[in-house]
Parts: sequence; C-alpha cells; structure tokens
Amino acid sequence: MLNIVLFGPPGAGKGTQSTRLLEKYGLVHLSTGDILRAEMNAGTALGLQAKALIEKGELVPDEVVIGMIDNKISSSANKNGFIFDGFPRTTPQAKALDVVLTNKGTGISCMLSLEVPEEELITRLLGRGAVSGRADDQDQNTIINRIKVYNEQTLPLKDYYKAQGKYVAIEGVGTVDSIFESLCEAIDGVSA
Ligand code: ADP
Repeated sequence: MLNIVLFGPPGAGKGTQSTRLLEKYGLVHLSTGDILRAEMNAGTALGLQAKALIEKGELVPDEVVIGMIDNKISSSANKNGFIFDGFPRTTPQAKALDVVLTNKGTGISCMLSLEVPEEELITRLLGRGAVSGRADDQDQNTIINRIKVYNEQTLPLKDYYKAQGKYVAIEGVGTVDSIFESLCEAIDGVSA
C-alpha cells in the first residue's frame, strides 16, 4: 500500500494537492478537518465541541481525531492506500496512526512536507476565508494562533518521520501544477 502523510502548515495547499493525488494514485483521502467540518454542519455533539476549538485556532483532542481516523481506516475498502491530510498533527496522533497501520499489516510510506513561508500562509488563508466562509480563515488572530499551534505541536513531527527516513521536503510556493509534479516525483521515487 501507498500511505502518504501530506504535511504542512495551515494554508500550505494540502487539500488542493490531495484531490489531485488521490485521483492519480487511487488513494482514499482522509482529512480530519473535512470530517470535523461535516460534524459541525450536521450539528452533532462532536461537531459542537470541535467548533468551539476550531474557531479559536486550537486543536481538537487527540482521542477524538484518533478515533475518527481509526473508524475511517477500518471502514475503507482496501484501495491502494491512504492520503492523510491534516493528520497526524501531534506526536501521540502519529504514534496511534503507526499502531493502526501496523495492525493492518502496512505502514506510512512517506511524509511529504509542503514548505511555505509564514507571510504567504496568512495571505492565502485570508483569501480562502473570503470565498469559503470558513470562520477560522476569516479572523487574523485565529490564523496567527493556528500557525503558533502548528509550530509548537505539529512541527516536531518532521523529526518523528525524519528519524524513520520518511521525511521529504517539497517547495510549496509555485503553481499548483508545478507543486503537484514535485509531489508525484517524490512519490514515484519512494514507490519505485
Ligand atoms: P488547515 O490545514 O487549513 O488548518 P484543516 O481543515 O486541516 O485546515 O483543520 C481545521 C481545524 O480542524 C484545525 O485548525 C484544528 O482545529 C482541527 N483539526 C483538524 N485536524 C486535526 C487533528 N488531526 N488534530 C486536532 N485538531 C484537528
């Protein structure tokens, strides 16, 4: 199986590139952000709990997202593999994912890390907020907090995957097509 962690700060382009990658490689897309937004739209208890945290730019508790991912992995028909988008975001999440995949007889193939400078992220997120209506993309303080939370809690995952020889840096500034090409080259290098 080809199991990819698509990594990067908020606004790095993970969602955009995931859509293209899953078509090309026949993968299942698992985005914890998308799953949480679906819960929010459906007005579930989980959605309400998540909404309060998301709108402050904080993370949803590890147990909650780990449970969600575990369910989705177990209920997905065996395709070629998974793209993890916005997950894992903390070390406990990465460890839990390793356990779930090991139990399935597989593991993470690579972590593709979209590298984008901070000023560019803020511009992109505010631009996205104006079109998407996402509350967490419309407030500059929330965006700044999301980037801070990313730097503190999520960035250490680079070292986690580096230690396993799975980290690949990808230049995340450029055209959507050129970034997609770099991602495909990296994937083809790993799976060759
Ligand atoms: P972005 O990458 O632009 O921040 P996402 O859709 O991935 O957008 O996430 C939106 C919000 O959902 C995050 O700011 C966080 O509050 C919550 N969230 C998403 N994934 C996770 C996760 N793996 N762990 C904790 N919280 C998460």
